[in-house]
Amino acid sequence: MGCLVSSLWRDKAKGQEFKSLSLFLAFMVAVILTFGLVDFGAIGFEAQAAELSSAYESAGEASPEKISPEKASSADVTPVPPNYPPIYNAKTTTLENGLKVVVIENHRAPVVHHMIWYKVGSADEPRNDGVSGAAHFLEHLMFKGTKAVGAGEFSRLIAGIGGQENAFTSWDYTAFFQTIPAKYLRDVMALESDRMINLTLAEKDIESERNVIIEERRGRTDNDPRALFNEQMRAMLFVNAPYAEPIIGWRDEMSLLKRADVMNYYTTWYAPNNAILVVSGDAKFDDVVRDARATYGLIPAREVPPHLRARVPQLSGGVAITHAAPDVPEDVYIKAWIVPNYADNPKNYYGLGLLTQILANGADSMLYQEFVVKRKIATSVELSYNGDARGDGELWLYAIPAGGTSPEALGAALDEYFKTIWAKKLMDDEMIERGKTRLIDAADYARDSLVGPAMEIGQMMAIGMSLNDIENWRNHIAALTPQDVDDAYRDVFLGTATAYRLPVTGIMKHVPATQPHKIH
Ligand SMILES: [Zn+2]
Repeated sequence: MGCLVSSLWRDKAKGQEFKSLSLFLAFMVAVILTFGLVDFGAIGFEAQAAELSSAYESAGEASPEKISPEKASSADVTPVPPNYPPIYNAKTTTLENGLKVVVIENHRAPVVHHMIWYKVGSADEPRNDGVSGAAHFLEHLMFKGTKAVGAGEFSRLIAGIGGQENAFTSWDYTAFFQTIPAKYLRDVMALESDRMINLTLAEKDIESERNVIIEERRGRTDNDPRALFNEQMRAMLFVNAPYAEPIIGWRDEMSLLKRADVMNYYTTWYAPNNAILVVSGDAKFDDVVRDARATYGLIPAREVPPHLRARVPQLSGGVAITHAAPDVPEDVYIKAWIVPNYADNPKNYYGLGLLTQILANGADSMLYQEFVVKRKIATSVELSYNGDARGDGELWLYAIPAGGTSPEALGAALDEYFKTIWAKKLMDDEMIERGKTRLIDAADYARDSLVGPAMEIGQMMAIGMSLNDIENWRNHIAALTPQDVDDAYRDVFLGTATAYRLPVTGIMKHVPATQPHKIH
C-alpha cells in the first residue's frame, strides 16, 4: 500500500532554499551518535556544526575491514544448463548489529535509490486487541520528526536536494525510500537511521494524522465497491490468519488507534537486526558498507519477537459471496485459493509462477485464448499469484464476463475448463517451454532500472529469501520440468494438495438503481 502522504510535505517544501545539507546532516548525525537524544534547540548550531561534522567524517572513514559478497548456499536447488549468471550482481553483507546491506551497483547516472526495509508489517500487529492499522499508521508518523529533525523536515531536506521519497506498508514488510543525487547518499542514510531509533511522537500529531489515514481509507476502500469487496473476500479466505485484516485497518478500529499502539509497535520491531538496507545505483559496495556502519551501524541490535502467522484451517464448506448493487461498475467473477508460499515449497513456488504465466499472462495465454478469443464470453481473465509471504500464499482469478454471459456462468465455464485442461492434457511441453522462455527473458528487463531491482530484492529478502536464490531465479525457472508444472496445477485446480483449502468465490454484479441492494 503506497502512501502519498509525504507528497503533502513536498508541496510545502517547494521553493525552499537549502544551502548546506551535508553540513547540517553531518552535524545531526554527530548529535545522534555522540550525545544520543539531544535537544536540538539547546545547542549552538552554527558554532558546533563544523567541529561535530569533522568528528562524523572520521567516524565514517574508520572501517577498512574487507567485505566480501555472500557466498552461494549449498542448500539451493541445483541449476541445470543453461546456467544463467546472477540477474542483478548485487552484493551483500551483514553489519555487526544485524542490519543486512545490499548494493546493486549501476553507474549510468549519478543517482541512487536508497531503501530501508523493515521485516515487519500489519500482520505483526497484536491480534484481537480491538484496534488495527498500527503498522501503516506508524509509516505515516515516521515523517513527524525526531529530536534532531523537526516534523516534516525529513521530507523538506529530500526535496531540497531534488530528491523524491515515499513509503509503503504491506502485511509482511514496511519500506521507506528516496531517490537522490548520489553524493547525498551518506547524508540520507544518516537521516533514515535517525528515525529508526529517535522518533518522537507528539499527541497532537497522533490526532491529526489519524484523520489523514481514515481519510485515506475512505478514498481508497470505503468509496470503492471493488476494493471493499476485495477486502471482504480476503477476510473470508484467510479466516484466522493475520492476512484477513486490511493493512490500513478496519474502519471502526482505526479511530481507536492510540499513541501507545504505535509506540509499542515501533519499539518492538524497528531494529537494525530486523531491517535490510538496499542501495541501487551510482554507489560502490565498500563505500556503502562503510557509510552504513557509520550511521545505521551505531544503533544497537535488539531482540525481536518471532513473526506469528496462523495458517488457514481446512474447512469443509466452500464460501461464496455476492455483491449486487448499482454502484458496481461492471460484473466480475473472482476466485481465490490458499496456496504454498516460497518457504513452504520452493519448487511449487516457482511452478505456480510459471503456471500463472502459461494460463493467464498475455494474449496467447490459455485462458485468454479460450474465453476471450474463442468463446467470446469474457473481456479479460487474469491470474495473480503471491507466494512472497511469511504465511499462506494466495492465488487470485479475476474474470470479466462479456456478451451477455453472467458471472456465475463464466465461473462455471472456467471451473469446467480447468478440469478439461487436465483430462485432455491441453497444456503441452511446448507451452511450458515457451512460458519459461518468456519469464526468463522478462528478467533481463527487470535489471535495467534503478528502482525495480531494489524493490524486487528488498521484498523477497524481507520474507526470508536469500540473495543467492533471488539472483538465481532464472535457473530455478529453467530447472522446472513438466512434472513440476503438473504438480502445481493438480494441487490447485484439482484440489489434490495435502491440506487443500477450498477456494472462496466472489461475484460482483451491477444492478439498476431501482432494485434493492443485496449483500449476502
Ligand atoms: Zn498511507
